[in-house]
Amino acid sequence: MKNFEGFGLSQELNNSLARMNYTAPTPIQEKAIPFALQGRDILGSAQTGTGKTAAFSIPLVEAALRNPHGNALVLTPTRELAKQVMDVIHQLLGPQSPIKTAFVIGGEPMGKQFQQLRQRPRIIVGTPGRINDHLERGLTLSKTNFLVLDETDRMLDMGFGVQLDRILKYLPAQRQTLMFSATLPRAIIQMSSKYLNKPERVAVGETNVVAPKIKQEIVHIAHEKKYEELVQQLYKREGSVIIFSKTKYGSEKMATKLCRDGFEADALHGDLRQNQRTKVMNKFRQKQFRILVATDIAARGLDVPHIEHVINYDLPQVAEDYIHRMGRTARAGAEGSALCFISPQEADKWRAIERLLNPSAAGPERKEHRREHRKEQGRYDHKPYGKRGGSRKRRFKPRPRQAMAA
Ligand code: AMP
Repeated sequence: MKNFEGFGLSQELNNSLARMNYTAPTPIQEKAIPFALQGRDILGSAQTGTGKTAAFSIPLVEAALRNPHGNALVLTPTRELAKQVMDVIHQLLGPQSPIKTAFVIGGEPMGKQFQQLRQRPRIIVGTPGRINDHLERGLTLSKTNFLVLDETDRMLDMGFGVQLDRILKYLPAQRQTLMFSATLPRAIIQMSSKYLNKPERVAVGETNVVAPKIKQEIVHIAHEKKYEELVQQLYKREGSVIIFSKTKYGSEKMATKLCRDGFEADALHGDLRQNQRTKVMNKFRQKQFRILVATDIAARGLDVPHIEHVINYDLPQVAEDYIHRMGRTARAGAEGSALCFISPQEADKWRAIERLLNPSAAGPERKEHRREHRKEQGRYDHKPYGKRGGSRKRRFKPRPRQAMAA
């Protein structure tokens, strides 16, 4: 298929796609949209920045146009991502659409949200915590027969899982559910079956890989020397940069320090009030400053096409987030660079990331450990020729985390 015509979408939707300059579907859109239009559940994966948002938003809007009795709910792990999804859905609906929407995220006044929810929106986009707040205050979702979980693995992990289960009790069992992410650990794939009905597994490229057009560099460095090195690296680079820092306090402090050292920088983290978070993101999108220092609230989904460099000042707690952080650059086929600082204290985290990216290439220590283990188990069957049979298990398991402020 070369363009969107072959999907048989409504004229309004085709007009919106033309307005958005979406002339041809991306591979994940080409694969997922036909199944979604047939009403199938989907577990979808494709690399970062390859158009997953439209892969679920196009069929969602088409379903809303075709069936005036069905409603849709999209859940995302962060407020910034929810805003981005809402914007794409609004663009797809077009400026004249009679279909009402509600945007329901934490940190914003309840009043405006009550107002939107009273008007019987057909599409709700939000974060789980605030959706639950509204459910406790009487919101009903009994007509919500189209559900999307964006960044599925994050949504199903411990912090959000509880919130999600609470929401799902309000939804009809007869519904269509779409789940998408660039990373899908095996445990999450198993867990997803609880929410999906005979899903179509739609995958483009490999899951758990860094997007191919990202040039990656690694610097092994003592923690105390990181800032000095960072400044040198920033001098060498041009264009917008996102730096990931482990803590809210650390990101704030680093942005202040960088400003003092003559850079244009600002911080994004969960301790900021929502209006500050929105302001920082808007300014960064408009290139009003060059360097965004963020915690992992910015790791997933954010689409700021002009980000050219990702710097991991600290490694992420959860290995999958490494792939998502990298994915803030090289979006929609562009190129990007990623730099990673690794201190000796972060060796374990780095090993977990390496195992995720390349599960079959265990380091020498690991191979030795495995050999010892097999010996203990009486299974040390050295085969000098050919491969040893049996499965190779990836042992990395995502660690449960607390939900980020939603
Ligand atoms: P996403 O992975 O959904 O965040 O999308 C990454 C980028 O690709 C965004 O800037 C989208 O606007 C853009 N994009 C998605 N689908 C298409 C398409 N079919 N044609 C052109 N650009 C697209």
